[in-house]
Amino acid sequence: PVGAWSMADGQDVHEAADASGIFVLAETAHGGIAPVTFELLGKAAELSAKSGQHVEAILAGYGVAPLADELIAYGAGRVHLLESEALSSYIEENHATAVADVVRSLRPAILLVGATVKGRGLSARLASMLHTGLTADCTDLDIDTETGLLRQIRPAFGGNLMATIVTPDHRPQMASVHPGVMKAPARDGSRSGETVRHDISTMRQDERISLLGETVKAVCGNNLADSRIVVGIGRGVKSHETVDAISTWAESVGAAVAGSRAAVECGLVDASRQVGQTGQTISPDLYIAVGISGQIQHTAAITGAKKIIAVNPDRNAPIFSMADYGWVATAEEALPVLTNIRF
Ligand code: FAD
Repeated sequence: PVGAWSMADGQDVHEAADASGIFVLAETAHGGIAPVTFELLGKAAELSAKSGQHVEAILAGYGVAPLADELIAYGAGRVHLLESEALSSYIEENHATAVADVVRSLRPAILLVGATVKGRGLSARLASMLHTGLTADCTDLDIDTETGLLRQIRPAFGGNLMATIVTPDHRPQMASVHPGVMKAPARDGSRSGETVRHDISTMRQDERISLLGETVKAVCGNNLADSRIVVGIGRGVKSHETVDAISTWAESVGAAVAGSRAAVECGLVDASRQVGQTGQTISPDLYIAVGISGQIQHTAAITGAKKIIAVNPDRNAPIFSMADYGWVATAEEALPVLTNIRF
């Protein structure tokens, strides 16, 4: 039965020999499946081709059954459906309890979760409940074909090196993965798969927590993840007037505005638009970095950009070493030219 939070000593860590399958924990968003889930299914298929492990998905929520076919169309051979009214609102503790219970019974070798706002909290809580490890915020994954060990690749030491982490002793090997770094496979509605409904009717809600209400935050400007052109604002763009002028122009040409962490901390750009190690990863056709120095924690998240233009008055700024075109100028000097560009 699905129980409440349990901290029994290490009993959840199953032996490597028992464990099999690459499982993706599906995330729902706006009545559909969040794009990061499809990206994880794409990576799972790649790991499966190397290791022979089967790909399965776990889908938890209320009224989510119709979404199972989407997961199959994107590569899940089997979908484990956990449906309960208790999961109708997203309360992390309840979702974690339901998912942990099914993971204990299915014994996956690998469990992948999107490193989204929801996924970051849920994966950490799940790892704790399952007494296993978690490699958070991975930017790549691979598999050792001989040992079946997941190679979990992520920035370490403040982003100064890329670490490859393996977890030989614990199962499932759990990793959360940045959205936008992996490629989603093409949807194929003719794929066949099976949906297995798990009975969670005995599930108890965590009585310490109840959802009083939800407020949807209005989002201004074009969507960062989908835009072909992104303008990144850094601390060098010192005034709100310059940010407003860049944002108005960006909106008019269908570009999205992003920011460095320093720009977010200065209040120039909203935190939801931060790009970098602790923000979003983007792969636009064109990234225009204005007043951004080019520290690794920022640039690691823009390596997928097809072309990069950098505007910075310091000709030695590190951003120029990765930019396709460099413009040695202040934001104020560049503004009249920039805001006249049409694509
Ligand atoms: P700065 O480094 O201060 O650069 C400002 C630039 O503006 C300079 O190059 C300067 O020459 C230029 N400039 C000066 N005057 C002007 C002008 N008038 N017009 C135009 N340009 C001008 N950073 C991120 O961005 N994203 C992250 O997710 C992130 N995560 C981090 C995680 C960790 C664990 C750590 C330790 C750091 C992280 N950082 C992150 C911070 C990162 O190390 C840098 O501090 C940050 O990216 C710097 O932002 P910036 O380039 O806007 O500011």
